[in-house]
Parts: sequence; C-alpha cells; structure tokens
Amino acid sequence: MRYVSTRGTAPELGFSDVLLSGLASDGGLYVPTEWPTLPAAGDDYSSTATSIMATYMGDDISAEVLEATVRDAYATFRHPEVAPLVQIENDLWIQELFHGPTLAFKDLALQVVGRLFDHVLAERSDRVTIVGATSGDTGSAAIDAVKSCDNVDIVILYPRGRTSDVQRRQMTTVDSPNVHAVAVDGTFDDCQDLVKAMFADEQLRRDCNLSAVNSINWARVMAQIVYYVTASQAFPEPATFCVPTGNFGNVLAGWIAKSTGASIDHLLIASNANDILARFVNDRDMSATEVVPTLSPSMDIQVSSNFERLLFEMNNRNGARTAEQLQHFRSSGTLEVEEANFRTWISSTFSAERVDDEETLAEIGRVYRDSGMLIDPHTATGTAAARRSRSNGATVCLSTAHPAKFPDAVEKATGIRPELPPELGDLMERSERMTDLPADLAGVSDFVRGVSRVSR
Ligand SMILES: *Cc1c(COP(=O)(O)O)cnc(C)c1O
Repeated sequence: MRYVSTRGTAPELGFSDVLLSGLASDGGLYVPTEWPTLPAAGDDYSSTATSIMATYMGDDISAEVLEATVRDAYATFRHPEVAPLVQIENDLWIQELFHGPTLAFKDLALQVVGRLFDHVLAERSDRVTIVGATSGDTGSAAIDAVKSCDNVDIVILYPRGRTSDVQRRQMTTVDSPNVHAVAVDGTFDDCQDLVKAMFADEQLRRDCNLSAVNSINWARVMAQIVYYVTASQAFPEPATFCVPTGNFGNVLAGWIAKSTGASIDHLLIASNANDILARFVNDRDMSATEVVPTLSPSMDIQVSSNFERLLFEMNNRNGARTAEQLQHFRSSGTLEVEEANFRTWISSTFSAERVDDEETLAEIGRVYRDSGMLIDPHTATGTAAARRSRSNGATVCLSTAHPAKFPDAVEKATGIRPELPPELGDLMERSERMTDLPADLAGVSDFVRGVSRVSR
C-alpha cells in the first residue's frame, strides 16, 4: 500500500511515513494509490476496525500490533458497542459517536492514531513534538490520545476565555508530564497563526521534530471509515448518512466507505451558518466568506481542507490540475468545478442543508419533547437537516458530541442542563494546569523548545 499526494509532486510514501508527516511536502494531502476493497465485517467494532485499517497499512504495521492497538483504543470507550445506533423516529437513527474519553467523535480516530504514532516512533527510536491550535474539541481529543505516549510531547494552544469550561478542563486537568496546555491571550485565529509560524520556522521544526495530528492526517480519515461500515450493516437496504461537517473530514470518510463497497445510499451534509459546503453542493458555488460564530463551534469553518481529497478524484487524480484549482481558490476565494464533473461526483452522491442557530435550538427542543433524548447542537444540525430533506429508507445522523459538552445550548433549548457521564463527573473539581502566554511567536516558540524532549 503506497500513498500519493493530491498535488502530484511529493514522493510516494508508505503508511507509517504518511502517518507521521501529516501534510505532504508539496502542500497536498496523501491518499492511497488505489482504494482497497472493503473486507468482510468482524464480530465487533474493534475487529471490523482492525480488518478495515489493515487494508490501508500494507506491511508497515503488523497484524498483532494493529489488533492490540485498536482493542486498547476502543477499550477507553464507555459503551461496549463503541458507536451504537439509537432510533429516534421511524426511519431516523442516531449513531452515537461520543462515548470516547473526551465526548466527541474525534476520539474514534485519535485514540487509534495517538497509539500508532507512539508505536512507529518507538520502532524508529524517534520522538516528536506535536503542536496544535484548538477552539475546543480537537485539542482535548489530541491531548487525551497521546497522554500516555512515551515518545510524544504535545503543546496545545487555546484562546484564553474563549473555550467552554468543559473543553478547557479536558485539556488542563490531564496530569501527564508530556502534556502542555497553553492559554494564549488572543483569538483562535491568533493561536492558529502561531502554530503555522512555528511550522514555517525550519530550525524550530527540525530541532523539536514538530508534528501535527490535525484533521488532514490520513490516518484520522481512515479510522472514521469504520463507523459508516458498522452502521450500514444494520440496515437491509442502503441507508442515507447525515453528517454535521466543517472540514469535510467526517463526510469524506463516508464517501470512501461508499466508494469501496459499504451499503450507503447518499450522504447528506449538514452545515450551520458557515455554509460553504451547502452552497457548493446545492448551487455549485464554493466561495469563502467570513466565519461567523454559532452554537456548533466545531463546524465554524470556511475552508474545508479535506475536500482536496475528493477534488483530486474529481480531477481524475491529476495533481497539477488540483494544485492549480486550489491556487486559484486561495487567490480569488472561489473554486471552479466543471458542470459535468459536478454532476458525476457531487450531485449523484451528496446533498446538503444549512441549519441556523434558531433552527438548531428548536430541533434540540423537539427531539427532547418527542423522545426524551438530549442532543448536542452539532447533532441537532444533522437531525434538522435529515428531517427537512426526508429521503426514502433509513437515515443515520452522526451524533458528533455528547450533549454535556455544550450544556448552555442544550439548557437554553430544553430547560435541562445535561450531566457529564459518571467517569467525568469530577471534571469541574479536578485541579487545572496551564501556562498563560501572550500571542507572541518568540515567547511561544521558546516555550515549545523548553518542553520538547526531542534532542537534535
Ligand atoms: C470536529 C467536529 C465536527 C466537524 O468534523 P469535520 O471532520 O470537520 O467534518 C462536528 N462536530 C463536532 C462535535 C466536532 O468536534
């Protein structure tokens, strides 16, 4: 199994190198040279996950190591089925992807990816320093995924005072010597700019062997294919999947599941007011606008980086063409896709709905009244979208976060404040550990150098 870059000029790599490098050296994203066929399902979530992931790894990770890694990763989940289906209405189901340690779907991929990182680094006698910026969910999921890794130090920058208390505490209460939460005096964009600037600093990058586990990392997409497969097997006819999405990562995994043989009818994208994907799918208009804050902050994104992987397929795997289109998108803010291509690749497979904050709150209230269930605002964009675009047969809405992760919105909609699961019940009492820093590149870089245990 080899991987090529979507921009066509970076060298082909095997799985382990793709895992550690994240972004390709030509700025593109790695995809397999050929899509493997979906293997037969296993007896439980972990065994299905192991067989699917094995098809993407070649000889890089042994079968025994992969199996143990996957079992270990999903043993951290609070539900024995890992990603259970719950029916909320006739033909409308929720797949609960929030039973992992940090209460969001990112755990499904990151718990595996963190362990694979540690394994590959140990084999190579190497270390990395992961740096990342977060507005909430990604940072806590990444920290939890690597907190027990011997060969990884992690520094996560978050905007001080701008994450929810639960999100902050999930980062600051982890008591591991390799974990460093940094409260930056600035916005999320400031945090992200600092991280980009650190990656652009060749010396720092080399000295600390900087690495990232952001949503463009191939291994994260790979791990997300699994729950589409396990859910689709529960239905006699192909099901529609409704996906609350921002970066296009989650729905891309659904597209791969469908393309490689999973029984999926079509993919419904749920956007919030940041609706670039909905405008694209409905009107062939991919033009970036300002990001507006919403009740579903993990979808407050205008440039969906993982879309590049689908664009590469749409271009018949022509990397030069893909690079040129993205260059044009960066300079003009608009991505042009030919009509015929659009019909073949987009309208045939995807539909999309935009759900604003008012509808999101109404939907949380409605689901609570009808079924007694509390759902989080990201999930609610999905169920509202599914209701509006009712397709034939079963629809599975991916529930991407636990309601207790966004208690204010849920309380506003239902009058009920959702409780944290018992395992996290004392989160609000645990002691916090973080470093306050100004949004200043020199200071933040010094901090990273200080905590990194890479010796170069
Ligand atoms: C990250 C996240 C999303 C968006 O996922 P993408 O991979 O960007 O589509 C949706 N909901 C929640 C709760 C998230 O944490």
